[in-house]
Amino acid sequence: MTVSQRPRTIIFDLYGTLVLGGSRLQRDTVAFQMADALEVDRTAFADIVRDTFDARVRGTMGGLSETISELAQRVGGSPTSRQIALATEQRLEFCRGLLSDSYSAMHLSQMKERGYRFGVVTDCSAETPLSWNSSWLRDVIDVVAFSCELGVRKPDPEIYLAATRRLNVQPDECVFVGDGGSNELYGAHELGMAATMLVDPNLVDTERFEGHSSWDGTIITSLAELVSAFNE
Ligand SMILES: [Mg+2]
Repeated sequence: MTVSQRPRTIIFDLYGTLVLGGSRLQRDTVAFQMADALEVDRTAFADIVRDTFDARVRGTMGGLSETISELAQRVGGSPTSRQIALATEQRLEFCRGLLSDSYSAMHLSQMKERGYRFGVVTDCSAETPLSWNSSWLRDVIDVVAFSCELGVRKPDPEIYLAATRRLNVQPDECVFVGDGGSNELYGAHELGMAATMLVDPNLVDTERFEGHSSWDGTIITSLAELVSAFNE
């Protein structure tokens, strides 16, 4: 079956699919800046940011400032509210930068003009929803399902179903497009979505790419392929 035979609702992964997720170096650099603001050890802080990824994307550590305060304390710090506010702003600035990348905007706009509806399903921590409204994505994406707000992450069916409910469609009416992180393609496929792996060299910047070689379903190498497939 070709992509062109699929319905007009597409659910996208966010990082590594619509925007870059930030390389490990970039993410550690931000963690070091935050550590300096919080007056804690740089390496220990960068490590604990990484090690708490699962808890942060499940939203179990609370809001962004609360999370940063907790992480600083876990590495022996006792930051002031002013220091926490500075580190929070540094993290938000990094996230807003990622979400300002408009590489995908033209393709999404072309499809939008043809009547497609879009959802985003993402494993993300508190800074993503806080940065969303200042991004171009807000105007193009119809519904979002943020893991940190829902308390579930991919490939749990509930995070996809949150998006399909908000779009008022059934999972088997949707195409899911993602770079494959979090086993997202298998989760989407099991719900009956037409799962499609996007392997765009311009959007590969993280170690999250590991394990993707096992996907034997549909693969595209740019969103442009998706656009042309739907134009057939
Ligand atoms: Mg991804």
